[in-house]
Amino acid sequence: MPDADLSAASAEKGGRAARAAALPALRAAIDRIIPADAWPAGWEGGVREYLTDDPIAADRDLLWAWPELLSLAARLDDEARRTGAADFAALGVDEQDAILAMIESGSGARAFDALRRVSWEGYYASSDGRHPAGLDMVGFRGAPEGVTPIEPEPLKTVTAAQVHSHYDAIIVGSGPGGGVAAQVLTAAGKHVLLVERAPYLRADEIRGDHLHGKRNAVYWPTVGPGPGHPRVAQTPDGDRLIDGTGDAGLYGLNADTIGGGTRIWQGMAWRFMPEDFRMASLYGNPDGASLADWPVSYDELEPYYTKAEWELGVAGEEGGLTSRTPRSAGYPMPAMGTEPSRELLGSAADRLGWGWGPIPLAINSQPWDGRAACVRCAQCIGNTCPVDAKNGSQSTFIPRAIATGLCDLLPDAEVVEVRDGVGAAGVTIMADATKRPVELTVSADVVVVSAGAVETARLLLASGLGNDHVGRYLHDHRTATVLGHAAEPVKPYIGPGHSVATLDHVHAATVPWGGGVIVDLMGLLPLTSAGQPGPGTPAWGARHKEWMRGGRANLFGVFAMGQEIPMPTSRVTLASVKDRWGRPGAALRKEVHWTSQQVEDGLAVQGATWLAAAGITDIRRQGGPATASAAGEHSCGTARMGTSSDNSATDPYGRVWGSHRVVACDSSLHPTNGSVNPTLTIVANAFRVAENLVAEWPR
Ligand SMILES: Cc1cc2nc3c(=O)[nH]c(=O)nc-3n(C[C@H](O)[C@H](O)[C@H](O)COP(=O)(O)OP(=O)(O)OC[C@H]3O[C@@H](n4cnc5c(N)ncnc54)[C@H](O)[C@@H]3O)c2cc1C
Ligand code: SF4
Repeated sequence: MPDADLSAASAEKGGRAARAAALPALRAAIDRIIPADAWPAGWEGGVREYLTDDPIAADRDLLWAWPELLSLAARLDDEARRTGAADFAALGVDEQDAILAMIESGSGARAFDALRRVSWEGYYASSDGRHPAGLDMVGFRGAPEGVTPIEPEPLKTVTAAQVHSHYDAIIVGSGPGGGVAAQVLTAAGKHVLLVERAPYLRADEIRGDHLHGKRNAVYWPTVGPGPGHPRVAQTPDGDRLIDGTGDAGLYGLNADTIGGGTRIWQGMAWRFMPEDFRMASLYGNPDGASLADWPVSYDELEPYYTKAEWELGVAGEEGGLTSRTPRSAGYPMPAMGTEPSRELLGSAADRLGWGWGPIPLAINSQPWDGRAACVRCAQCIGNTCPVDAKNGSQSTFIPRAIATGLCDLLPDAEVVEVRDGVGAAGVTIMADATKRPVELTVSADVVVVSAGAVETARLLLASGLGNDHVGRYLHDHRTATVLGHAAEPVKPYIGPGHSVATLDHVHAATVPWGGGVIVDLMGLLPLTSAGQPGPGTPAWGARHKEWMRGGRANLFGVFAMGQEIPMPTSRVTLASVKDRWGRPGAALRKEVHWTSQQVEDGLAVQGATWLAAAGITDIRRQGGPATASAAGEHSCGTARMGTSSDNSATDPYGRVWGSHRVVACDSSLHPTNGSVNPTLTIVANAFRVAENLVAEWPR
């Protein structure tokens, strides 16, 4: 009889028969986790198909679960036989519930959790083309009725054989940093090779999968780097080895795809506050912290912010959220229209005397740049857009660069080494990386490294470039989520997600160390809601299912995001584990400074105040203090800009100290990461860095 220690491999080997034998007990148990009512029970509503018909689930994703499920099935039948029944399926539902409750609260808790998790994944998550009953039950649609998703015109790419031996510039990574560099350099007549390690995926391959999409990333993320990209997370509990197919949070994944994170982002497009550029001057440096002033001020960056908003396409409104960031131009598009959460929190902010407004979003609130307006679908964040209304590197900067005829975009190609030299720089590329890899050696006047905060540091370190500051000061943002119960549903299944914000706790007396922004919680995917039943709602069974249909819609909250105080000991280094090319993977270490903890705690208190003023009840902070992964979607700082090689990895224009022809141009340059999402600042700074590169082209 299989037991809980059965390895995934042996479960797989002898597993087909064992799995089939376990199905009657599992089916009966799944139908108690999600019992039938007006809607089908769990098994027929989607879990059968998930467990037995989906080859990706059966042969890959659920290998972890089967040993648990097999052991649970055996236990359920054993317990049933003790009562004189033939097996678990033969029992009445009350007796089945009693056995499940006993196992849940006793020695079988782990196996029970596996069963519940698999049941929810099968019933409430769309994945691999499945559309289970739970989605219709809660009224979730991927795209609004009548909207037919479109596939944008594919970007023109080059093959390995078409790559030239020399370019004016080689750009590593196609995220917002790399995309802006490509646009600016090609506009100046430079011939560039834009290298992206992710293969080219169609938009519909990165949309609507609630298990593999980046929003939940339960298994093998679609926008992960895939197998052969190990990292080591140096956690307080010891080193953990994770591959690019594994836990996206622990891995510190942003998104590897054409356009980097901006292909699937939420698009919150903030300017940093003037104070964000002077953190060391304003707050000093408490023990162990390494706050730094930027080598550029808000006033100097302001023209680039305006350019970033117009080149990217941002929908926003001047008013409560812009009064502290002087502007030389308005937004190119009006803000996205209102929704119930904005109305509720806006009136509450008025009662509290707080400033508020619609969040500036890099989303088309009206047709823009030859693309359609947003249709407010329910799954914006973590997905590509069904109508291509989301503005990112892939829909703005890169197409413009390619349109000049001077940008060769090479996907599925990883730069594994950068070489610097007095006369020329160069790279080694593994092209056709997921097919039949071929090694290319290409030279250039300049190499621009825009691979994101972790990979830029890894590549520089592995190439022996830069000083001891490279890789240090890895930081992100601190976050806090506060939940509660709204009298009326305020977050229906419409997009884009976050809608309203207050910046009153940024560099204010209420939250120390620069504080941060507070926004309304985005609408949760059904699978996420299933795991967060409100107080008093059981975690499975008929009442849980009823709550999913009704009370779930009243779950509401706010999300706060604020300063993480950088530390030199939080860093990217080279691990001993090797990637698919035999190059060292990244080791990630994150220490949390006590001041960072004060930021998130302070924001949580203010978030609760906002919710209370909005009449929300049952207010609670989710999960206590945030235990941020070492890296994530907002990672930055690993090649920080500064005025001297004594305190930074690059000069004020991203030129790597000690190198002749290597420039960093992405989130790694941020000395500190502001009190809001970072990408508009990455874009603005990239325009500044790239324009300077053109002006001071290395001879
Ligand atoms: C779901 C989601 C939601 C987000 N929402 C927001 C938001 O609302 N607002 C906001 O400001 N930010 C948001 N972000 C964060 C934002 O996407 C990042 O801040 C931004 O993408 C970082 O830009 P970057 O240029 O530094 O790097 P990236 O965007 O990470 O781009 C780096 C690229 O380099 C490629 N690469 C890496 N190594 C190599 C190599 N060796 N060779 C070739 N290519 C390589 C990677 O595959 C990747 O495509 C979100 C991110 C995600 C994933
Ligand atoms: S909500 Fe986001 S993904 Fe959906 S249509 Fe609008 S921009 Fe596109």
